[in-house]
Amino acid sequence: MSTNQPAPPIDEVGALLGRMRSAASPVRDVLRELHERLSKDDSGEVATYIPELAKANPGWFGLSICTVDGNTIEFGDVSQPFTIQSISKAFVYGMALEDRGLENVLAKVGVEPTGDAFNSIVLDEISNRPFNPMVNAGAIATCDLINGADHPERVARMLNMIRTYCGREIHIDHSVFLSERMTGHRNRAMAHLMRNFGMMGEKFEESLELYFQQCSILVTASDLAVMGATLANAGVNPKTGERAISADNVKYVLSLMLTCGMYDYAGEWAFRVGLPAKSGVAGGIVAVIPGVGGIGVFSPPLDAKGNSVRGVRACTELSQRFGLHCLATGSGGNALLEALTARRR
Ligand code: GLU
Repeated sequence: MSTNQPAPPIDEVGALLGRMRSAASPVRDVLRELHERLSKDDSGEVATYIPELAKANPGWFGLSICTVDGNTIEFGDVSQPFTIQSISKAFVYGMALEDRGLENVLAKVGVEPTGDAFNSIVLDEISNRPFNPMVNAGAIATCDLINGADHPERVARMLNMIRTYCGREIHIDHSVFLSERMTGHRNRAMAHLMRNFGMMGEKFEESLELYFQQCSILVTASDLAVMGATLANAGVNPKTGERAISADNVKYVLSLMLTCGMYDYAGEWAFRVGLPAKSGVAGGIVAVIPGVGGIGVFSPPLDAKGNSVRGVRACTELSQRFGLHCLATGSGGNALLEALTARRR
């Protein structure tokens, strides 16, 4: 399979994806071949900005797809836990929307993509808002909007939110959290700056702590696929039937993932892959095929833009192979949905 291969006709895509349940499924064969081939690509560098992350095995590679009717196909290290890092930003933003409502959230955090680095200390000159919730400043300001009577309750609510998306109990990696907190001077500076401008409240230090905790939540590639499928499924976890976020707010989260989710590659990602996605520095990527399913990838070596090398390649090939670009008319995603719906009738 080459990235230059044209997308197959829609009926072929529908036929392929419609047979996902079968052990002999061609989708399974495509994923297996993709996983095998990309496993051999050892380009990229594991993040080392905190010692804990530098311990990751560069060979780890898990690839999982979960559909809105709960089918899963996966290969490789899909059960290997890693810290969610920046991927959490999309989900915590959704939680802030649920807790405070759209207008209150927009008053504190913008929705504009920025060409600046994810950790840049830049606020909008007129409004003093951080540009969007996918850069660190915006994510820290978003944390300040999470409800709870005290800090432990806010942490518990956040963990429960991620648990609902994953459909299983989840935990914080304490040593990564301590590392993040100990080395997070830049993030601390941003929090102080935003406090200075009134964009964060009196408890801004606790909110920063919450941000370090959210980044240190342990997930797997399988979890990311289910989390993506939950967003694809209008906010309901397809495996448990539990609602994680209102359908109304899903579109706001997905819009920001599409425009701002992949660091400084966000524009090219939207152009080439065309799926709302979010990546994290530990090597995870979650991509959403709206109305169809979620893709979860984990592989620690990162490219120069900070995205998982194998993760970007896997999603790019899957999108091209199955015609998943969400702005393409009659995309393969629609065909998958039709095939799945037809089977249930
Ligand atoms: N915890 C990281 C930080 O704030 C997030 C890194 C990332 O995944 O982008 O620096």
